[in-house]
Amino acid sequence: MKTKNSTKPDNHKFKLKFWKTLFFLYVHTFIPWLFYIFYYLYCYPEEIHNFVILTIFSAIYAYSLAGLGVTAGAHRFWSHKSYKAKLPLRIFLAIAFDASGQHDLISWVTDHRLHHKYSETDADPHNARRGFFFSHIGWLCVKKHPEYLKKAPTVDLSDLYDDPVVVWERRLYYFTSFTTVVIIPIAIPYYLWSIPFWQCYFIAGIRYLVVMHITFAVNSAAHLWGSRPYDRNINPAEQDICKWFMIGEFYHNFHHTFPRDYKASEWGWMQLNIAAMFIELMALIGQAYDLQTTPRSVVVARKKRTGEVTGN
Ligand SMILES: [Zn+2]
Ligand SMILES: [Zn+2]
Repeated sequence: MKTKNSTKPDNHKFKLKFWKTLFFLYVHTFIPWLFYIFYYLYCYPEEIHNFVILTIFSAIYAYSLAGLGVTAGAHRFWSHKSYKAKLPLRIFLAIAFDASGQHDLISWVTDHRLHHKYSETDADPHNARRGFFFSHIGWLCVKKHPEYLKKAPTVDLSDLYDDPVVVWERRLYYFTSFTTVVIIPIAIPYYLWSIPFWQCYFIAGIRYLVVMHITFAVNSAAHLWGSRPYDRNINPAEQDICKWFMIGEFYHNFHHTFPRDYKASEWGWMQLNIAAMFIELMALIGQAYDLQTTPRSVVVARKKRTGEVTGN
């Protein structure tokens, strides 16, 4: 890893979170079942039509709810205040975020603000200096580092506690999360298209896993591999392959350099930055306003000053 401003992690012995680890192990057992579903469809090809409908439904559900809830909601709106949003949009984003099953907004934003402020140190909850596994999922399976516990109370969360949507999201988290992660994605295809319950159940699990791993990859892969055109002195990088799947969240070198930009990227529509498109659409109908963006001249000047030199 090439960063200059990060510190070497210490030899802290992390304590395992038993039930959380067990939960992650359990959801990963859904993967072999996916192969069983493929085998089942091979034996009963007349059911493929329904399975295609289920897959399309799950993909749309994943991107339009969980994906936007994490990117346009928890990340760009609540963590970075990169735009302002009216009450109906905030309610939608909070429910959409719960469909990702990534804990409540206050916890998510606390971790993310620490991640930006103390990037690649032991106060960064998913310190990428501890390697791919730790920064991807390992950090969620262990108790927090003492340095994190020391710095967490210093994070200003007053804006979140002032937002009734965030306060209620925390109160109702287990209810809305269970409803949006488990009940709705199973009930809709089961009742609407009479798809077998066991298929709805396992595909709902796979949908949860896919959203989870794509989100986690921003903390792991995007901090380890890729180009650094805006700031060569930091770990976060631009992920050329993954960026097509994460609706605009893999331009991580740009994002850590200009964290308040609502696009989280230099690019918008042309690079499938669906979260930026969504925010612009919301601005068009008056639900989002005061969109923060970085002037092109500032981006170009920064690239020249600190960007990685490529080519000749
Ligand atoms: Zn961020
Ligand atoms: Zn990051």
